[in-house]
Amino acid sequence: MIYYKTEEEIELIRESCLLVCKALAHVGSIIRPGITGEQIDKEAEQVIRDYGAVPGFKGYRGFPATLCVSKNEGVVHGIPTKTEFKDGDVVSVDCGVLLNEFYGDSAFTFALGEITPEVMQLLRVTNTALYKGIEKAVDGKRVGDIGFAVQDYCERKHKYGVVRELVGHGIGKNLHEAPEVPNYGKKGRGPKMREGLVIAIEPMVNLGTKGVKQADDGWTIVTSDAKPSAHYEHTVAVGKQKADILSDHTGIENAIANNPEVNEVPLILSESIRVR
Ligand code: MG
Ligand code: MG
Repeated sequence: MIYYKTEEEIELIRESCLLVCKALAHVGSIIRPGITGEQIDKEAEQVIRDYGAVPGFKGYRGFPATLCVSKNEGVVHGIPTKTEFKDGDVVSVDCGVLLNEFYGDSAFTFALGEITPEVMQLLRVTNTALYKGIEKAVDGKRVGDIGFAVQDYCERKHKYGVVRELVGHGIGKNLHEAPEVPNYGKKGRGPKMREGLVIAIEPMVNLGTKGVKQADDGWTIVTSDAKPSAHYEHTVAVGKQKADILSDHTGIENAIANNPEVNEVPLILSESIRVR
């Protein structure tokens, strides 16, 4: 069952998404080698609670934290730990909030300290692929058009592995709603998108093989070859002419620009593909 949202409901989801991004921007300002996943989790939770909202992931199917913190070979669903981040770590931070009965969801991968050019390129391609997918979130197109755009760019053009087992999703009064939004697919296939559909698009892209497995903690998804993975996510409303991006990474990017221990992740085609 696909729930289409009214304009009022979309504005409520936007408010939730902007709070998620405010929490992630705070993370972007404090994350560095030497800080722990538990510390950034605690601070992100405070940002959310100060706003009168509730962390969206905490307690969801038993998940214990506000943030999913997935480092290096961690793809998604990592539990924040007491282990300090190290120079050279790439850390995916995924956050959700529940506010006014609607969820917001967004994620960003932070590159700490000295990072190899190979891994920086993975991050830039994955971040760019997110916007390539968003370009297809238009009335009349199909979910497969999004998946094709992401997969074609990441796998065919850049030879990375696009994760199959985890997908984007509809979002609203539930954190995960229909339809599933895979990061792979065929043009013109899958459910047709209509104005008012709100979806989270979230490419998960591996430097090596596309294969993943579950880590021993029962939560973290890791690459099967232990090579690094990247993850970026926006929640968007399908529009008549173009998608309306309800989350906003500008604050995160500004925080990173002012944080000397985190590398900026510029889009490959820069502003030209940034749909607003
Ligand atoms: Mg997310
Ligand atoms: Mg999501």
